[in-house]
Amino acid sequence: MAIKSEQDYRNRVAKLKPRLFMGGKRVKDLTDHPITRGVIDATARVYALTMDPQYADIMQSMSHLTGEPISRALHIHQSKEDLHRRLDMARLSSQKLGTCNYRCPGNEMLPSLAATTWEMDQAKGTDYHQRFNAFLKSAQENDLVVSGSVTDPKGDRSKRPLEQDPDYYVHVVEKRSDGIVVCGAKQHATGAYTADETLVLPGISCREGEEDYALAFVIPNGAEGVTYIAQYNPFSVERECEADPRVIGNPLYGQRETCLIVFDHVLVPWERVFMCGEIEYTQSFITRFAKTHRMNCGGACKVGFMDLIIGASQLMAEYNGLAKASHIAQKITRMLQLNDTSLACATAAAYMGQEEPPGCGVFMPDEAMSNIAKLNTNDGFWEVMALAGDIAGGIAVTMPSEKELENPDTKHYVAKYLGAAAPAKKRMRMVKFLQNWVAGLHGVGTYQGSGPSQNQMMVLYRIADLETKKRMAEELANGLG
Ligand SMILES: Cc1cc2nc3c(=O)[nH]c(=O)nc-3n(C[C@H](O)[C@H](O)[C@H](O)COP(=O)(O)OP(=O)(O)OC[C@H]3O[C@@H](n4cnc5c(N)ncnc54)[C@H](O)[C@@H]3O)c2cc1C
Repeated sequence: MAIKSEQDYRNRVAKLKPRLFMGGKRVKDLTDHPITRGVIDATARVYALTMDPQYADIMQSMSHLTGEPISRALHIHQSKEDLHRRLDMARLSSQKLGTCNYRCPGNEMLPSLAATTWEMDQAKGTDYHQRFNAFLKSAQENDLVVSGSVTDPKGDRSKRPLEQDPDYYVHVVEKRSDGIVVCGAKQHATGAYTADETLVLPGISCREGEEDYALAFVIPNGAEGVTYIAQYNPFSVERECEADPRVIGNPLYGQRETCLIVFDHVLVPWERVFMCGEIEYTQSFITRFAKTHRMNCGGACKVGFMDLIIGASQLMAEYNGLAKASHIAQKITRMLQLNDTSLACATAAAYMGQEEPPGCGVFMPDEAMSNIAKLNTNDGFWEVMALAGDIAGGIAVTMPSEKELENPDTKHYVAKYLGAAAPAKKRMRMVKFLQNWVAGLHGVGTYQGSGPSQNQMMVLYRIADLETKKRMAEELANGLG
């Protein structure tokens, strides 16, 4: 059976030995570190959800390559309904995990790769599509976790790749009979060190002379020459130091974990290369990935997160004895409005989706709607965070540790003074949960993940049919029927 169990994934990941550094130290065993273990547990939960019969419609799909049931995380959208189901999967995963599901960026690259490799083969007689399908079939049959990396470090953002250190963008340094050798790095790679494979797409639309940067390929975890350098922040320290994870904000799964991936002369065999030098297709790769990613990750995934923030805010109001205060109800309503606006745009992106390019069998979401879903989320998520902080009160950032409830010197004071309409312990747990959302990494993470607002604004302006709008206005202004 192509759908694997949570235990299958755990067995696989226990054997992975990526060259991973975190907080200045080497992580030798992914299963034995509190942070990487959280990433594994989150990914394992996605496998468990996929096998759960009540979520089968959402989490499973049918392979267009083998006709077998597969995880939707490895599916290529074949219809508008598929696009919509993908949204359901993103929202459900976020609701159940409160963090990244770690199968998303790779999943959202697959349709772009399927469509664009097909298009290149049609026009240029290459065999990229065949190679890609061989990789995809094997990933589907083994139910692999595939992460996705598109974001280069970029260096000086005002300069092109060849105007600065050439390694600021991933590129080919040697072409050999058995494959290509690549150098450079990708940053902010979500969950790459616990994934089976990492897909790499170009992070820039390449121009003439930049052929070495027009690259798409896949590497297995821990390939020779690859180093992973994990993110590290106060939440990392809290998780590392806390023996009892129940007292931290997302006890089971932690923060969204990313890393810098360095490629130091990494050999990629030809059968794993899906573009090499075709500069005219880099824009298609990027825009097809971006619109899929912005519908799912920018839209539906964050809707699932906002569901959690809204639920926690309503609970805090109740724990504080303010459930009936009219301004609280208004604020909760505003949060619902913002959340449902993001959901509406993501849903529209799915239902306005089309086969692209015609004949390839791959469905892509509507570009304007997916970018607007992300744009609404960028602004809406900040406002939802602010409203949640308003409802929770100052305690969202000033609360003592829940461990004071076990300290004989302080437990009576804390139980008394941090209690309200709910006992102190219950209230403190919810405060910590909310703190994780409103006073942590999620604001910037949500805004920047799948691109900051300026990226979406540029797309919207570029694709807008302003000529038609101008003509309509002119016709009426001039009294033409
Ligand atoms: C939690 C999280 C998870 C992520 N996961 C992944 C992942 O799995 N895979 C992946 O590939 N990426 C991932 N990303 C990366 C994400 O897509 C980028 O953070 C985003 O595209 C912004 O790129 P940057 O961080 O380099 O910021 P920058 O590009 O430096 O942007 C910072 C600011 O500078 C502006 N700017 C940048 N360049 C220019 C320019 N040339 N001219 C004018 N203004 C400019 C931007 O508009 C923005 O306002 C993730 C990011 C986060 C925060």
